[in-house]
Amino acid sequence: MTVALVTGVAGQDGFYLAHLLRDRGVEVWGTTRDGRQPPDLPFVRLAPPAELRDVAAVRAAVAVAGPDQVYHLAAQTSVARSWQDPLATAGDTALGTATLLEAVRQEAPAARVFLAASSEVFGEPESSPQDETTPIRPVSPYGAAKAYGLHLARSYRERLGLFVAAGILYNHESPRRPPDYVTRKITRGARAIADGDPGPLRLGNLDAIRDWGFAGDTVRAMAAMLDHDRPSDFVVATGEPHTVRELCDLAFARVGLDYRDHVVVEPAFWRPVEPVPLVGDATNARSRLGWATSVDFAALVALMVDAESGSGDRPAIPG
Ligand code: GDP
Repeated sequence: MTVALVTGVAGQDGFYLAHLLRDRGVEVWGTTRDGRQPPDLPFVRLAPPAELRDVAAVRAAVAVAGPDQVYHLAAQTSVARSWQDPLATAGDTALGTATLLEAVRQEAPAARVFLAASSEVFGEPESSPQDETTPIRPVSPYGAAKAYGLHLARSYRERLGLFVAAGILYNHESPRRPPDYVTRKITRGARAIADGDPGPLRLGNLDAIRDWGFAGDTVRAMAAMLDHDRPSDFVVATGEPHTVRELCDLAFARVGLDYRDHVVVEPAFWRPVEPVPLVGDATNARSRLGWATSVDFAALVALMVDAESGSGDRPAIPG
């Protein structure tokens, strides 16, 4: 039986990945920040709690699980928070990746490793869409930490011969997204207002463009990278640019409302629009991994709105 260790299994991607692996007959081990069993992942075997920067502890977690595959998802995940605490971001996201790779090298050198990088490694690119050849030029502590991880993946692969694949992941969303991300903020807000909340929903830049995919599709690309015969870097994206305004339009229409009656622009949330949008070209993932998305933008917004319960952070999960 294949054994997989998923760091950060309690997060959005961990949820979808753990279910995918379980459905494929993989024995899933996981680590969580607080060392507690995620209540909605009862089948995941918990590895000993490991501080991300503690090599001995992470080594122990790898040794206990004895994995054939390691998915390293644990990280500080927000660009905005990386500006509030750049040192913690460097520690958890950059050094955490170094720690994990060292632990695997020492305890499970034959394991196949997936590292989650991010479109933020491209910073403010000169062209769009971006692919695996686009220069790495991050412009945030988050992007810089993810770029370090990406370069380390390449180093361990090319110099040490470890099987290390990296996904350059564009925004990927689901009902599991925390409510401070714009997708959840909007789907939650639309549902709450439809249920009687007076609103308004206060947002930042409605003209901001992102390449939003469904997290359930993104984790299939992760698994495909480790099933592939050669480790590499892959852009994982839909290739479709959409604005925050379109998101509002679809989400409010889903509950029978017009967003223009309920959304106001609040300077506190405003960020400048990037001159060249972050949109990914996933041709390589499609042609070499056989990967394809199954949920388009409109379907993603619909499934997120439908999963909102109107209260609380944990909506019902469709499917
Ligand atoms: P990010 O791509 O990791 O920064 O993910 P977010 O979901 O936080 O932001 C996506 C885009 O939505 C960014 O371009 C923001 O400028 C834009 N945006 C507009 N209004 C808001 C808001 O109220 N909150 C957040 N988080 N983003 C907003």
